[in-house]
Amino acid sequence: MPEGLILKGIGGFYYIKVNDDVIECKARGKFRKDEVVPMVGDYVDITMSDHEHLKGNIEKIYPRKTVLIRPAVANVDQVVIVVAVASPKPNVTLVDKFLLAAEHQNLDIIICFNKIDLDKKNKYIDLYNIYTRAGYKTVCTSSKTKEGVKDLRKLFHGKSTVFAGASGVGKSSLLNVIDARFSLQTGEISKKIRRGKHTTRHVELLAITEESYVVDTPGFSSIDLMNIPKDELAILFKEFRAYLPLCRFRGCSHTSELGCAIINAVENGEIDHARFQNYKYFYNQLRELEKQRYK
Ligand code: GDP
Ligand code: ZN
Repeated sequence: MPEGLILKGIGGFYYIKVNDDVIECKARGKFRKDEVVPMVGDYVDITMSDHEHLKGNIEKIYPRKTVLIRPAVANVDQVVIVVAVASPKPNVTLVDKFLLAAEHQNLDIIICFNKIDLDKKNKYIDLYNIYTRAGYKTVCTSSKTKEGVKDLRKLFHGKSTVFAGASGVGKSSLLNVIDARFSLQTGEISKKIRRGKHTTRHVELLAITEESYVVDTPGFSSIDLMNIPKDELAILFKEFRAYLPLCRFRGCSHTSELGCAIINAVENGEIDHARFQNYKYFYNQLRELEKQRYK
């Protein structure tokens, strides 16, 4: 059993939660030799060097379940992809891009439709239905009226969670209503000021309850399609998976083939058309990337 969890790291010191204490630790030289750098979110064993002042050394880093690069955090279990139902208008392509990145990392996914106070006529329900029918866990919130925030908080139980989503959708506001200790600045202007003032912002895990943690900084807000091979794209579309074995041809690209089970499912309304359009869009992008790479 690991003894501790790294909550943050600053200037070569790591702050490690061990039971109810936070121990300031250094990493042993052997990690440097092995080129392993401790990360926020790592489970570790430590030894104490100074009980009175709560200081110690990291002795062992446990294998990582997941590794995110931006923000750099290990062992995140799930991502909350925040979509504003209005202001800014939802961008389905971007939502699907976040979904792909999260699926690729094998994270559990929650799609959070925020700012529902701005959509009195519930026009977002079509969008909500697309993703709920695709099999995603969804929640509807307003960080302004706090509607739905309890439901969201419940989904954090026992997990380490990171937020993702376009700029301005309300990620920082949601973090703030989830836990007042976050007191993150919201809105573009204040963010710009903050960026100017504190050039080094450290990633930190904050405990919401004994077993639930949230990464204190809104996560990967811009992503490339990265290194997903085009042939592995379809399986990252959750609702495509059940159909994939049913295509007539092996190696079906699911873009135009006869007897393609995905295309059939789109035609008879089982798979959403917009999701399929995005699949083709991303597929073509990845195909272009691969062509350029092998030129
Ligand atoms: P972030 O860039 O995703 O972190 O977004 P922010 O949390 O900074 O929010 C962007 C703007 O949207 C701010 O002016 C917030 O006050 C506003 N906002 C956030 N959540 C809501 C909401 O649920 N309803 C309304 N009406 N405005 C919101
Ligand atoms: Zn197919």
